[in-house]
Amino acid sequence: MHRFIVSPENIRDNIITLEGDDFKHLRQVLRLKPGDSINVFDGSGIEYEADILSVEKSRAIAEIKNAFQSDTEPKVRVTLFQGLPKGEKMDLIIQKGVELGVYRIIPVITNRTVVKLDKKDCQRKTERWSRISREAAKQCRRAYVPEVTEPVSFDEALIVAESSEAVLVLYENEEKKCLKETLKCYNINKIENIALFVGPEGGFTYQEVENCRNLGYNIVGLGKRILRAETASISVLSIIMYEMGEMNL
Ligand code: SAM
Repeated sequence: MHRFIVSPENIRDNIITLEGDDFKHLRQVLRLKPGDSINVFDGSGIEYEADILSVEKSRAIAEIKNAFQSDTEPKVRVTLFQGLPKGEKMDLIIQKGVELGVYRIIPVITNRTVVKLDKKDCQRKTERWSRISREAAKQCRRAYVPEVTEPVSFDEALIVAESSEAVLVLYENEEKKCLKETLKCYNINKIENIALFVGPEGGFTYQEVENCRNLGYNIVGLGKRILRAETASISVLSIIMYEMGEMNL
């Protein structure tokens, strides 16, 4: 069944109104007609089965037949604190992160972040990243659209991460603690939220890592090879989801 995403305010009294790009896709590409059934989600985790009642000039109206909580959401909520990389790498990290089940993505301006963004750039980028998150959620059958926040400073990120049960900070110079051993310290079946910090191309500075260490966060190495920022994020998200049993059938 074709899937569409709408804002919660477009769902009222058992009726869904589809507008904008999704409506264009419904009418011009899929050529759906009254009577056709569709799947709709509102980005908050609820999925609807609905029948199209009418296809008008700028909107389609559908009637909800069934509503259910989506079962595609991981039990564990992983927030990715991603040191802002150059170019379009963030797009890739968001797309793959959403497919893998990330809960929220917080771009972080660190000491070695090269990209310079003013307020307007931040808003523009965040809108673009949110669209990527939305499209990825739709494509991979998630009914929840992970939030991508505006970039925050490293210090702000440290404060947000405080409420997580486990904070993992990936650091290529860490020689004592590895991911496997660190994850073993937690009750995998009980943990509900994890914060994952990944640096930008230049990595975290020694001082940033020490600040994390002083807060009791886990500084974690991934072995002897240095991974690109996007490889590190995508592979660690995969490992966490695998370890949490989120890749079982
Ligand atoms: N500037 C660093 C260097 O050249 O030595 C590399 C930074 S790496 C490209 C970007 C980020 O990926 C790092 O800040 C870290 O969070 C993560 N990362 C990459 N390889 C890692 C490893 N072997 N262990 C832990 N983290 C790693």
